[in-house]
Amino acid sequence: MKDLPARRLLLVHAHPDDETINNGATMALYAAAGAQVTLVTCTLGEEGEVIPPDLAHLAPDREDRLGPHRIGELAAAMKELGVTDHRFLGGPGRFRDSGMMGLEQNHREGAFWNTDVDDAAPHLVEVIRSVRPQVLVTYDPHGGYGHPDHIQAHRVAMRAAGLSADPGYRPGLGEAHTIAKIYWNRVPRSVAEEGFARLRDAGVDFPGIAAIDDIPGVVDDSDITAEIDGREYAERKAAAMRAHASQIAVDGPFFALSNDLGQPMFVREYYQLVQGDPGAPPGEREHDLFAGVPA
Ligand SMILES: [Zn+2]
Repeated sequence: MKDLPARRLLLVHAHPDDETINNGATMALYAAAGAQVTLVTCTLGEEGEVIPPDLAHLAPDREDRLGPHRIGELAAAMKELGVTDHRFLGGPGRFRDSGMMGLEQNHREGAFWNTDVDDAAPHLVEVIRSVRPQVLVTYDPHGGYGHPDHIQAHRVAMRAAGLSADPGYRPGLGEAHTIAKIYWNRVPRSVAEEGFARLRDAGVDFPGIAAIDDIPGVVDDSDITAEIDGREYAERKAAAMRAHASQIAVDGPFFALSNDLGQPMFVREYYQLVQGDPGAPPGEREHDLFAGVPA
């Protein structure tokens, strides 16, 4: 087996921009520390709503060229974060953005939501067995906020993690590998509340302010098991968010998606360990996702 960096982090996301919003500071921090950071994005985000009027022609109901455009945005964002290994599940365009829950796009041929988990998972097994990450980060079973591609990304990531560890499962995809720790993306309720209070006080230019329920993965503080202090990488994260210009409008430490509702950008990022041994004493948060992982 080829030489691998000592610490290897894999993140599985649904669309370009999800990685930066959820984990941008974490990714920049570990990349700067010499860890291998691998991002797998499951779709090109073809169904995203376009914010800048001069890019509106890319939209799926017009030229339908948003996917290729977002490949470029993602590459620019990863450059800002210092992440060199970013891939699309099964290759670019293999699975299409399914749109918001309930839309007819959910059932389109090739839509990620319309794909059997067991047809998508082998593509990720191949990545896992090649990169051999000790840590996997993905969404919770609700996909953080119910978007079909986020739910499916969760299912595929969890299924692939299990299959990768089984030596009897498709040996042609590489030598079996067990991921030591699996985390779901989270935001503690108190942090979300504090962020929105800051946003209201700041009086930014967005037409409205989002609600806490609009923020994916908000849970009670007691569910948080890991907290990554990414303040040193706040500028990197903001720059990466600006790189996703078709989807995100950034205003200082705040941003808005296509709904024009302001929300706080978090540079401390939070996680819940759902598989593997915690690297902190009971009741204490980890401050390193690799804590407790044997060298
Ligand atoms: Zn998304």
